[in-house]
Amino acid sequence: MLIYMPDSYSKNSPSSKRALFLDRDGVINKEVNYLYKIEDFEFIDGIFDLCKSAIEYDYRIIVATNQSGIARDYYSEADLEKLTRWMMREFAEHGIEISSVYACPHLTDCQARKPNPGMLLQAQKDFDLDLSQCIFIGDKERDMEAGLRAGIDNLILFSENVSAPEKLDSKIDIVSSLNQAKEKLFNEE
Ligand SMILES: [Mg+2]
Ligand SMILES: [Zn+2]
Repeated sequence: MLIYMPDSYSKNSPSSKRALFLDRDGVINKEVNYLYKIEDFEFIDGIFDLCKSAIEYDYRIIVATNQSGIARDYYSEADLEKLTRWMMREFAEHGIEISSVYACPHLTDCQARKPNPGMLLQAQKDFDLDLSQCIFIGDKERDMEAGLRAGIDNLILFSENVSAPEKLDSKIDIVSSLNQAKEKLFNEE
């Protein structure tokens, strides 16, 4: 498992046991097959506002992403590191600290690769999280499965063309925009 953390954490970094977990491709950036070039990375509308709200509500931001393009030799670990550091700086410029990015470079047989929960469990250890209070937003059922298996109770499936899968766990909500996710999660009465 590859782990990218900032060089230092800002003083006001949340000490919270809660995290908003984000899948990367299809949640933070528009889906591009085996994306590794900065110029192909396009942020999805609403991602920065969503993260700002999460931080206001005392959630850390953590990214968990399958990156089998490395196992497939489409790009290298160095490519992923470069893109990830750039992405973290873009968030920082919006005032958003990403606590950590976890990436599984493998294709098979890895406990980190979603739908396995390994990356989420590693984050739990690294930040002493209470997973039952965490949120996971993903765009694939395998994200939801990883979240359920890690014990995360608050799961959001983000799909711009909402066609609900046949059987969804009651812990999963479906949204068609990140703004809708923000309203659902962080809209205090
Ligand atoms: Mg995805
Ligand atoms: Zn792996």
